[in-house]
Amino acid sequence: MTQPPLFRRLTLLGCGLIGSSIARAARAQGGVAGEIVVNARSAKTLARVAELGIADRVEADPAAAVEGADCVILCAPVGTYAALAEAIAPHMAEGAILSDVGSTKQSVIRDVGPLVPAGVHFVPAHPLAGTEYSGPDAGFATLFEGRWCLLTPPAGTEADAVERIRDLWQRMGSMVSIMEPAHHDRVLAIVSHLPHLIAFTICGTADDLADETRQQVLQFAASGFRDFTRIAASDPEMWRDVFLNNREALLEMLARFTEDAQAMARAVRWGDAAYIEDKIGRGRKIRRSLIEINQA
Ligand code: NAP
Repeated sequence: MTQPPLFRRLTLLGCGLIGSSIARAARAQGGVAGEIVVNARSAKTLARVAELGIADRVEADPAAAVEGADCVILCAPVGTYAALAEAIAPHMAEGAILSDVGSTKQSVIRDVGPLVPAGVHFVPAHPLAGTEYSGPDAGFATLFEGRWCLLTPPAGTEADAVERIRDLWQRMGSMVSIMEPAHHDRVLAIVSHLPHLIAFTICGTADDLADETRQQVLQFAASGFRDFTRIAASDPEMWRDVFLNNREALLEMLARFTEDAQAMARAVRWGDAAYIEDKIGRGRKIRRSLIEINQA
């Protein structure tokens, strides 16, 4: 006898890079969802999802999309979560799991937590996987393979619901860890949010230079600058929402970074070669250890 799927009906609210990758990975694995329903903001994205054939059904109304679903995952920018949760809350099935993929976790718990109806299990999650591309065409089934997915269930969340979300991510190839939401936001501020802030800023600075210089910047872009432009190509709405919803941790990490950058500037000004060499050596060591743990 074949096993029933992990979820009878999986609904994804938002279907860009992450949502469409979940849809594709769930399909590729088999046994994850009996039916995949997708909602997105625009008719264009819904039509494209239907054309790509990565969902069984597309729904323009989020409330209709969650009807009868035993798992609903918010896959839109985190700034939309409160309104989405409000729209779907009265329509969610008793016993269903509500999860998400948002890059900030305290804000999601703050915005969505109070709106979760009794009988619905709330299991916030964040896959540490992505590219600089967005939209339903950008996703791919192997995006989460070998990547971490962090779960930040609020105290008192039913253990079985957490285990089912763990199972979902493991079936899609992720390693899963449980983390406290405030810790998650501080860690992500330094390893993801600050690097994006720096990339957007450095590209803006280069763009502000006089026309003649800008041409040279682009024409002779060395690999360092090119790497920044790749990160800076990310979706503006998604990153605006991340910055605004992880404000404290991001500002704290930026302040620490600014101090360290000033120390480096001082070393450059005073010709402190040993300091400079030491910092570069540390960077190199970090890169090597990332390669060793397959997260480069
Ligand atoms: P994306 O490619 O830009 O896709 C966003 C999706 O959300 C689109 O389908 C969009 O629909 C939909 N959407 C926007 N506003 C909506 C609304 N009000 N109601 C319903 N759907 C709405 O973004 P993404 O990269 O997949 O990011 C989605 C989430 O994953 C974000 O919360 C982000 O923080 C998180 N995340 C991203 C990454 C990454 O590297 N990109 C990694 C991990 C987690 P339309 O196309 O119709 O506008």
